[in-house]
Amino acid sequence: MMNRNHAFSLTRKRLAGLYAGTMGLILAACGFGFYESMAHEHWESLNRKLATVAGTLHDGIEPVLEQPGKVEPIVDHFLPGLVCVNGTQCPEQAPIAERHIAGVVQQENYYIRFVDPNGKILATVGQQPEGVSLQIPAPSWQTLQAGNGTSYRQVSLFLKTRNQSPWGYIQVGESLEAYETHLARVRWTLIIGLPIAMLLVAGASWWLSGVAMRPVYQSYRQIQQFTADAAHELRTPLAAIRSTVEFTLDEPELSESEVRNTLRIIERQNNRLSNLVQDLLLLSRLDLQGNVIRLSLCCLNTLIEDLIEEFSALAIASDLILKADIQTSQTLIVLGNEEQLYRSFANLMTNAMQYTPPGGIVIMQLNQEEENAILSVKDTGIGISLVEQSRIFDRFYRVNSDRSRKTGGAGLGLSIAQAIVQAHHGKIQVQSDIGKGSVFTVRLPLQIS
Ligand code: ADP
Repeated sequence: MMNRNHAFSLTRKRLAGLYAGTMGLILAACGFGFYESMAHEHWESLNRKLATVAGTLHDGIEPVLEQPGKVEPIVDHFLPGLVCVNGTQCPEQAPIAERHIAGVVQQENYYIRFVDPNGKILATVGQQPEGVSLQIPAPSWQTLQAGNGTSYRQVSLFLKTRNQSPWGYIQVGESLEAYETHLARVRWTLIIGLPIAMLLVAGASWWLSGVAMRPVYQSYRQIQQFTADAAHELRTPLAAIRSTVEFTLDEPELSESEVRNTLRIIERQNNRLSNLVQDLLLLSRLDLQGNVIRLSLCCLNTLIEDLIEEFSALAIASDLILKADIQTSQTLIVLGNEEQLYRSFANLMTNAMQYTPPGGIVIMQLNQEEENAILSVKDTGIGISLVEQSRIFDRFYRVNSDRSRKTGGAGLGLSIAQAIVQAHHGKIQVQSDIGKGSVFTVRLPLQIS
């Protein structure tokens, strides 16, 4: 329904687009941030581990080094069965390491090498990278590219003999293959995952914008309906006036009684029009203001007396018994607009009399319940079904349009009564049984002095 209206469909599309765009940017930024921080953390931890292994070996070996270029047996003590001196005694199958540091070296697939200050390799541990040139003096951190395309991260620490002459370097390195594979996997997950997430976000945005706009659309529809109903109600008396005037003008000769009759019809329709316009104005004013203006202290007891007085003649004419039932000894005062409150109760009274067959009773009751005044209009009329009870307060709603057209007004009476009561911070309720009668109860907050 909503999408058939151009303005609403455009707004919905815009809202969904903006929402999806914003969410997309946030998602992409989060994904990128996550990737960067994860890669950084991995890199740091890789470097830390290399530094720890290199540092531990350096600190363990350095104090026992005697002669530059000579690999002391202590090295084999730290890395049992792993060291391969001058490329000659390389162990075929490395035994399971007993020492902690050797275990780490094996597990992580590190390579270690001992190099003299001139760049000559003295001893190695583990699989050495191929095609990697040795740089002398060795920088402490290097990222090297091997001939087969694999990258290596390597740390170099300088070693000195016991009498402080330079001995050479210990270099510990690791292939970056696992690190790069891991990063590539995460990258792919993001590259595939982000568009899927975006599709879901776009779907969710479309749905959410629809949900968000539903109340706006509903009130737009209500206004549309209200305008159509108002126009319809205005059209009927206008059409009646036009046809009466046309008919009269077409007459070649007019008697005085005919003229009077025509004028009476025009007056009646005109009254109907002005009442309708006044009702519409009152409703729109109540809608706009929200609050009541021209407040004064209104005594409900007096208000009821006035109403009974005003409607007594109509009650006699309609053969109805009209009674007031004041159940409190207190004088109940509310702060409000007296004219409006009177109008609200008069509407309830008019309905009660209209929808009660001759011989029935209409009672106006006044009571106090805590800090509220309870005013009810009770009749023994035709009653309202439960389904209709929820709709009778709607603007222009009439239970039975044909019947009400003759008897009732335009279907605005209860809407006006409700709007006034609500503007006075009160509540209006209906209780009714078909064939037995109805009770309209108004609850208004009392003015506590
Ligand atoms: P209307 O101008 O038709 O009276 P209202 O808004 O006052 O419009 O009332 C809406 C509908 O509620 C009426 O058409 C009528 O059918 C029903 N209604 C209102 N009051 C009563 C009542 N006391 N008893 C039975 N029906 C009622």
